[in-house]
Amino acid sequence: MNRFSDRLTAVGLRLRHAKTEVLQINVGKLCNLTCTHCHVNAGPKRKEIMTRETIDRIIDWLAKTEIPIVDLTGGAPEMIPDFRYFIERVKALQPSRHVIDRCNLTILLEPGYEDLAEFLAKKKVEIIASMPCYSPKNVNAQRGEGVFEGSIAALKVLNRLGYGVAGDLALHLVYNPVGAFLPAPQAELETDYKRELATHFGIVFNRLYTITNLPIARFAAYLRHNNKLEEYMELLISAFNQATVDGLMCRNTISVGWRGEVYDCDFNQQLDMQWANPDESGLFLWDVDPDKIDDREIMTGDHCFGCTAGAGSSCGGALVE
Ligand code: SF4
Ligand code: SF4
Repeated sequence: MNRFSDRLTAVGLRLRHAKTEVLQINVGKLCNLTCTHCHVNAGPKRKEIMTRETIDRIIDWLAKTEIPIVDLTGGAPEMIPDFRYFIERVKALQPSRHVIDRCNLTILLEPGYEDLAEFLAKKKVEIIASMPCYSPKNVNAQRGEGVFEGSIAALKVLNRLGYGVAGDLALHLVYNPVGAFLPAPQAELETDYKRELATHFGIVFNRLYTITNLPIARFAAYLRHNNKLEEYMELLISAFNQATVDGLMCRNTISVGWRGEVYDCDFNQQLDMQWANPDESGLFLWDVDPDKIDDREIMTGDHCFGCTAGAGSSCGGALVE
């Protein structure tokens, strides 16, 4: 039973891929943190990381397209050995192509990564950084002891390099709830974050994105453990907002896994909902004809209610006011 698909049908909507604007690449599950809300089950012991051979195949495919945005995520994407090589190759194809690094901030201070922030600034890579709260208590509870302090120190480094200050060095923060509830309105939270981070730490940034936790992977386990999974699903379903459907990120994104497999979004990726050939074998990016994916039907499931609840949710934050 797919209650999400039933709900779309009930309101006369179909979810189809439109023009691809973003190639989002999940380069692996390796991470220096183990956050409770992580939908990737990432952590320091994970071995799944993208090889250089896969990166080269992705670059060859990208070279045949005009997709303007490459969005690198993980895990901590910076931890794969070829992270810088990947960015250099994307930029060499077309310097104006926009690259995003989804960064957990603390990695920028880890031994061996001290010059990474400078590299990102030099390459004009946009940084979208997780920061689930402006108070140490909530951040450390969700992400681990000391993560708040590390994140603040990293934000100061980024500000010093011009991130969040200079026009061409965008620094956006991501808020996600620390429990089984929907995010507060994005604009209000952004105002609070800007005030608190500036007043207490002298930190500035561009935009705050609110992202709803989807009930999958580690967050689903956390909900199950606390007997809240059904309650949370009911909350998401009852908050379904059909005005969000048009802007869902799966409509303009192709999501690629660490082996090059293809999905509609990073959440479907974690649920192994890989694009498939008619014989049901899985599709890899290099099997896909970039000119033939418009209007492709998007694979959905109950977890999709997390993207359509309230103001909606995507990798770029809320979808409607
Ligand atoms: S949420 Fe991000 S920073 Fe936290 S464990 Fe997962 S990938 Fe790492
Ligand atoms: S989880 Fe969200 S982005 Fe992914 S397919 Fe469902 S609605 Fe689209």
